[in-house]
Amino acid sequence: MSSKTLHEFLKENLDELKNKGLYNVIDPVEGPNGPIITIAGRELINLSSNNYLGLATDQRLIDACLEATKTYGVGAGAVRTINGTLDIHVKLEERLAQFKHTEAAIAYQSGFNCNMAAISAVMDKHDAILSDELNHASIIDGCRLSKAKIIRYNHSDMEDLRTKTRQAKESGMYNKIMIITDGVFSMDGDIAKLPEIVEIAEEFDVMTYVDDAHGSGVLGNGAGTVKHFGLSDRVDFQIGTLSKAIGVVGGYVAGKRDLIDWLKVRSRPFLFSTAVTPGAVAACIEAIDILMDSSDLQNKLWENSNYLKEGLKALGFDIGASETPITPCVIGDEAKTQEFSKRLNEEGVYAKSIVFPTVPKGTGRVRNMPTAAHTKEMLDHALALYEKVGKEMELI
Ligand SMILES: *Cc1c(COP(=O)(O)O)cnc(C)c1O
Repeated sequence: MSSKTLHEFLKENLDELKNKGLYNVIDPVEGPNGPIITIAGRELINLSSNNYLGLATDQRLIDACLEATKTYGVGAGAVRTINGTLDIHVKLEERLAQFKHTEAAIAYQSGFNCNMAAISAVMDKHDAILSDELNHASIIDGCRLSKAKIIRYNHSDMEDLRTKTRQAKESGMYNKIMIITDGVFSMDGDIAKLPEIVEIAEEFDVMTYVDDAHGSGVLGNGAGTVKHFGLSDRVDFQIGTLSKAIGVVGGYVAGKRDLIDWLKVRSRPFLFSTAVTPGAVAACIEAIDILMDSSDLQNKLWENSNYLKEGLKALGFDIGASETPITPCVIGDEAKTQEFSKRLNEEGVYAKSIVFPTVPKGTGRVRNMPTAAHTKEMLDHALALYEKVGKEMELI
């Protein structure tokens, strides 16, 4: 068989995606990513960002970012371990530890980066990782990078997890064993069964790793899913992102002091990739101060989420099993789901369709992400358009 050229490979695969209607076209947003966005000159109600608390455009964060940029410049100038660690990076890590109720924390350039960094700094080819089948792509890639044996368990199936943990432990084949899970699952908005996961981990004496990208700032009075269940000192790795509810960019691990000390000398993105910019760091500190100071934004987020959920349910839509602001509107058929999202867009709502292979076949959905920054009028307008398009397409 003759080998393919790059051009042949790309053409074949791009054509296949386009023929299947799976080639994603990116719509640039012309201005801030707030509750209303402008795309191609049209204003749309934005139900697709992860900017849960509206902090991405908050004036207090903008001011902190500008101030730090004036003081420190636009770049950190080096990786953290050479001389890219500015005093504000240290301050951010101290704040994160307070925020998460842990001994210490380490900040990375992104949540994705954080999973690349932390898993492979601790796990290797002699180890095993029990991973929920619906874990985020960055967890999956982080696990692969570590070369540990990956044992997938059925989504939130605690019996399956217990059986597979016992088998891994009793096999005697692995040096170390870790259970790894999202705190909040991003496609359905359901919460991991952390109390049972921690119980299983303690019974078999294995590590726990919770990536709470969608839980921080949302659950547990802002501190996340682990705090929500009162497990702050019983989970080994608490991962968070600074890019969703916090509204800026970056990721972190919070945990015991010795874990953080180890990650500072062994996690490769920390050692070999330049530190987060001073402006972003200062904005993150401001955001965490705001969250530790008051629950107003979280309360508003939940109020808006409940309002949108009730509204969609009352119209007759299936919103799945969400326990968080993530609100899927399950349509089922892939083509219909895409058509629904497109029609909503034409009418004035930006809500992305998510279909196979991101979610199982036949469970296509339009995913809604209400935020604290939406007004009741915006949500009413969105619901009216959902009703209009839903009836037109005979979905309700
Ligand atoms: C979004 C997300 C990430 C990536 O975070 P970034 O800061 O955007 O890189 C990691 N893990 C989970 C579970 C996520 O939902």
